Amino acid sequence: MSETNAKAATQVVRAGLGADKQFNAVVAPIYLSTTYGFNGLEGRGQFDYSRSGNPTRQQLINALVGLEGGAGGDATSTGMGAAGALAHRVLRQGDLVFAPHDCYGGTWRLFTALADSGFIEVAFIDLSAADAQALIAARHPKLVWVETPSNPLLRITDIAAVTEAAHAVNAVVAVDNTFMSPILQRPLDFGVDYVVYSTTKYISGHSDVVGGAIIAATVEDAEQVHWWCNTLGVTASPFDSYLTMRGLRTMAARMALHNSNAEKLVAAVSGHPAIKALYWPGLVSHPGHELAAKQQRSFGAMLSIDVGSFAAATTLCAALKLFTLAESLGGVESLICSPATMTHAAMPAAVQAAAGITPGLLRLSIGIEDSADLIADLGAGLDQVVACGNRAACLG
Ligand SMILES: *Cc1c(COP(=O)(O)O)cnc(C)c1O
Repeated sequence: MSETNAKAATQVVRAGLGADKQFNAVVAPIYLSTTYGFNGLEGRGQFDYSRSGNPTRQQLINALVGLEGGAGGDATSTGMGAAGALAHRVLRQGDLVFAPHDCYGGTWRLFTALADSGFIEVAFIDLSAADAQALIAARHPKLVWVETPSNPLLRITDIAAVTEAAHAVNAVVAVDNTFMSPILQRPLDFGVDYVVYSTTKYISGHSDVVGGAIIAATVEDAEQVHWWCNTLGVTASPFDSYLTMRGLRTMAARMALHNSNAEKLVAAVSGHPAIKALYWPGLVSHPGHELAAKQQRSFGAMLSIDVGSFAAATTLCAALKLFTLAESLGGVESLICSPATMTHAAMPAAVQAAAGITPGLLRLSIGIEDSADLIADLGAGLDQVVACGNRAACLG
């Protein structure tokens, strides 16, 4: 298992270079124009109106489709815009959706709202569990939505096995690959129908632009995805597309650093007395370790730790200097968050508990700062937790 794919590393750097024929600009300009001239009344060019198509957005779409090995797709204004457009493309009245019981909070809200309004049915299940394939065979969902590694407990779902079971009952499979990026995992290689992204995270990588994408395996699905993104009006703006493309160029290099920092950090702090549980698929003790080694190119830089109580979590977050307390992930800077009160706060307490989200759980997005600095900071914070016992926000 290599940390990056040499071909992808070349692809991200070279994508779309030399597209400007007027001045030979190495990096193409941003096409802000909303409208494009016709050559006569019936002479529609490649682009006519920017919601429907835009050269800057198209450059990003082409790069992502190439990285995933897909047939086509679209870039959207947000990751949730991509999820919503995909729901419109795939679902019809009365359809059943299978989604992970620990899926992204916004995705949980989307499917729950569609079910509450009577449009669909949704079942939140553990797709990483041994009975997932049997459940698919028994209940015939129309859409199986996969997130692997899952959020925030990094459970690993067998993409190939779930896809085989889903296709056997004519279900459509979509993988939200946001936690991995196309550098670390290519779901289409395992036969899935759609890959969905919040490009806000690793793909743009600098925490300065919100965006999403859908990549489809077939031309027909790609055309339908584009039709729905245009119809709903969720296509990405030229400026956001440009920023995302700018981030994408360093994605392979960033992912290698994210990964090695996570690996070193885990090696340094696992076994610390303040950590009651550590969730990272790279650990041999992680239940999904072997599967992750098989279907991912590396173990990624998202990990969660359980420090035992909300008081201990409060102490740790207050003590850290190099981990910003914030939602989101995948930027160059290290972040820490409390799923129970932040990213997954929209889930009722019982749903949180079923997904394993405890008050002492903290999710870390490991950035590309110097690994020794990150280790020293997290180590000192964990020592503080031990020194404070159960007193909240105790800073010694
Ligand atoms: C952030 C995120 C989303 C939503 O994306 P936005 O760009 O915030 O709309 C969806 N899925 C996962 C796994 C995410 O982390």
